Amino acid sequence: MALKTGESKSFFCFYFFRNFINLIFPPGICRICGTKVNYGLPQICFSCLKKIQKVKEPFCNICGRAMAETAEIGVCGDCLKEPPSYEKHISLYLYEGAIREMVLAYKVLKRYPFYRIFGKSIAKNVKNKMGNIAFDLVAFIPTPFIRRIMRGFSPAELIAKKCGRELNLPVKNILKLKKRTKPQKNLGAKERKENLKGAFDCKEDLRGKNVLLIDDIFTTGTTIEEASRILKKCGAKVYAATFAIRKKREIDLPSIED
Ligand SMILES: [Zn+2]
Ligand SMILES: [Zn+2]
Repeated sequence: MALKTGESKSFFCFYFFRNFINLIFPPGICRICGTKVNYGLPQICFSCLKKIQKVKEPFCNICGRAMAETAEIGVCGDCLKEPPSYEKHISLYLYEGAIREMVLAYKVLKRYPFYRIFGKSIAKNVKNKMGNIAFDLVAFIPTPFIRRIMRGFSPAELIAKKCGRELNLPVKNILKLKKRTKPQKNLGAKERKENLKGAFDCKEDLRGKNVLLIDDIFTTGTTIEEASRILKKCGAKVYAATFAIRKKREIDLPSIED
């Protein structure tokens, strides 16, 4: 069937636009279930996107992890046994399926524009769940120099900067890495603790300051805890926020994400 001039023009535009998009983000198969997808970013099909799970109540009021339905006091056994250095941590999604793929695409495949989604979502969650706290500044977990050079960016820093813009707060690089740490990815919970012990340093006077500490994911909680311990030593009250949280039963498994 011959197309009229107007139709052929718009068809050509659509065709050109689609090919242009495909050139930048080539289509392929869903990274989770293998279904064919017609778009390249984030290469996750709609049915997998629909399975994304938010962190739902009941969760621990301190560490933010999901708790059994029957828990009455609102604080999990781990936090009761060994209270963390931070006042409270909140996360938005369970670290699985499409959410995990997005974080991996961001960090491993270097799809750095994802920082906008992560930063904006975290900021919204902070407004909802910590809206009563007057924050003085936003801090973030630093990336070791070599890894930053190889990756080309610092994942938590980009997210924190977006978050700070959304919340109208200054973002400061106050945590310094003072020892060489191994990537946490192949370490179990106990080894992660050892690896990060004494890893951070902070020289700021943070007395009377409320600090919002940002990272992408919360796995064992070791990184957030160690960074909070140092910030607390400088006088700060630390509140932490991440994009996704790993389920407790999975935290001893090796992972490729950090
Ligand atoms: Zn899928
Ligand atoms: Zn807890």
